Amino acid sequence: MYVGNRISISILILTLVVSTLTHAHEHKVENVKTHIKGEVTYLGNAALMVESGDNKVLFDPFFHSHFNIYQLVPEEIENAIKQGVSPYNEITAIVISHAHGDHFAAQDVADYLHKFPHVKLYAPQQAVEELITLRMENSVQERIHGFDLALGDQPKQVIHDGLLIEAARIPHAGWPGRADVENLVFRVTIADKLTVMHLGDADPNNKHYVPFFSHWHKRKTHTAFPPYWFFLSSQGNAILENTLNAEKHIGVHVPVKIPQTLIDSKKSFFSQPGERVTLSDSGG
Ligand SMILES: [Zn+2]
Ligand SMILES: [Zn+2]
Repeated sequence: MYVGNRISISILILTLVVSTLTHAHEHKVENVKTHIKGEVTYLGNAALMVESGDNKVLFDPFFHSHFNIYQLVPEEIENAIKQGVSPYNEITAIVISHAHGDHFAAQDVADYLHKFPHVKLYAPQQAVEELITLRMENSVQERIHGFDLALGDQPKQVIHDGLLIEAARIPHAGWPGRADVENLVFRVTIADKLTVMHLGDADPNNKHYVPFFSHWHKRKTHTAFPPYWFFLSSQGNAILENTLNAEKHIGVHVPVKIPQTLIDSKKSFFSQPGERVTLSDSGG
């Protein structure tokens, strides 16, 4: 009787343990599924396509300068984007970080906006000024939103088509050189679901970021895409880890010949155009 009871109790405990483990496992799988927020496709240099739900946003997609160092968007991908071939179809918006030749080609952007009448453009005023020297129809100009930000200005934002687009002016790498370049760090939230950050060619000096503390902390970024040089300096890493309020980082702007120091850093970075990565939050 006593033995029998012990066996029954043991079986009961075993059943409870097994069922708890099973539930824990199911719960974990379910969590992983529900926290997928979107996807990113690497195109070349700092060019990305970020998608979530019905929205697709291109960052710095059209450029022709590689300075014999950086990765151009391969012709096959460039043609697919320009022809609107899946997965590069039904683009919601283009975001430009700054008007340098390894990030921006005005004529290509203008041609694209002519061809796809629903696409909006978000860009620093410097890039917009290059665009308005080109002959553009009013219907194209109406879809261009310029962010005019001087050094030290508070970040600005615009909400459109289910996108929240926030821009902060952060000096270009090489500070205090190239201080005149209107480099913008864009934080884009798609349909209240996925928030990504594109840093353009931002300088990895913490003093640029500290004044915008409340901006970084207003919203959590799921994945930030810093230029790879952030991973190679202690200050760059500290900005990513402590200041920007971003859960994950994937480096971009990586030279074709990948620096050994970057490989040794063991950080995540893009180097193969066409590579796709799922974006999720770390909710667990
Ligand atoms: Zn630049
Ligand atoms: Zn660049």
